[in-house]
Amino acid sequence: MIYNEFQGMNLSRLGFGCMRFAMDPATGEIDQAKVDAMFDLAIAGGVNYFDTAYPYLDGKSELAMAKALSRYPRDSYYIADKFPGHSLPGPVDNIALFNISLKKCGVEYFDFYLLHNITEWSVKIYESPEYHIIPDVLKMKEEGKIRHLGFSFHGGPELLEELLTRYEGMFEFVQIQCNYLDWTLQDAKKKYDIITSHGLGVWVMEPCRGGKLAVLNEDAHARLQALDPEKSDASYAFRFLQDLPGVKMILSGMNEVFQVEDNLRTFEAHQPLSEKERETLFDIAESLKKGVPCTGCRYCCAGCPMELNIPYLLECYNDYKFAASVSPSMRLDGLDDDKKPANCIGCGQCAHACPQGIDVPAALAELAELYANGPNWSVQARSRHEAIKKDLKM
Ligand code: SF4
Ligand code: SF4
Repeated sequence: MIYNEFQGMNLSRLGFGCMRFAMDPATGEIDQAKVDAMFDLAIAGGVNYFDTAYPYLDGKSELAMAKALSRYPRDSYYIADKFPGHSLPGPVDNIALFNISLKKCGVEYFDFYLLHNITEWSVKIYESPEYHIIPDVLKMKEEGKIRHLGFSFHGGPELLEELLTRYEGMFEFVQIQCNYLDWTLQDAKKKYDIITSHGLGVWVMEPCRGGKLAVLNEDAHARLQALDPEKSDASYAFRFLQDLPGVKMILSGMNEVFQVEDNLRTFEAHQPLSEKERETLFDIAESLKKGVPCTGCRYCCAGCPMELNIPYLLECYNDYKFAASVSPSMRLDGLDDDKKPANCIGCGQCAHACPQGIDVPAALAELAELYANGPNWSVQARSRHEAIKKDLKM
């Protein structure tokens, strides 16, 4: 196993993400015996970092992780958990909620704790004096119940830079979605540069983009097999990240034994990508992208009568086009109502200004439709509100 020194700890570079545990098809519940066996295998292979969050698997991830780890001494592993600010039904007793997580995880403290899922929308909750989240989390840190504080982030680079400047010295690491596709699709390169320029550790989630880079389409898979028939598609995604020195933690949501075995092989030693392998991955990334080739040059913005942030909207559009997910809807929720995609009047000024020849009005019309009728955070949030109210007996 490759290890990274971080704040005096030796962290395994591969962390066990606990968002997608193996399920028992007969009961529909988490298959605890399988989780235990996979943890045993991972720990024997040197993994010492386990990442969960309050809402994962409807609150059951924390419990299953705790059960599996309870068979090991507390000082032999690191646990990361997250505060669900983005899922709150309104201002709540944050400390009571934090203590519920501690209890479910069966621990006295979290080695790592993150503000979960900061975006342009959820940042308003995290920073709201009424919600009082940041002062309460800092209090838990002062009391030693949090050893290292960070946040997970799904917003754009501008917000990331603003936050790290505003809270200089408060956070030690930032967890972002980063892989060879999102390096450009979700501006992960810019985010990586911002985090490292502030001297913080980069934690990576979705290294295989929800499995899409672990099981590539036939053409892309054949290209990687031609380079080395012994290596899995997933191994290339991990090796891309191994080459980034600022990446201290790579979380993989493993739910099959063969994935643990394959990942342990990949993390036995740092295996730098060759130039040819790197080029092939970036070619594959381009071939996987859907949507429009916006470069973010902003030539279109000055002439927009509605003063829309067109590149920002097109980032959300591209994200929706790649895969159905609630992430772009959260970013769109963060915009003022008069800056949302439905405000485009279709005048076409932007399309004339665009050196990429993008039909912006058509893309924004489709985006407005996707935002109204596609995967939407506000729908998912309602069930989370109810779960938190139940836990807090509200
Ligand atoms: S078509 Fe829409 S986005 Fe483009 S300039 Fe006109 S209002 Fe703005
Ligand atoms: S001009 Fe074209 S490429 Fe540039 S930001 Fe606007 S839409 Fe994107």
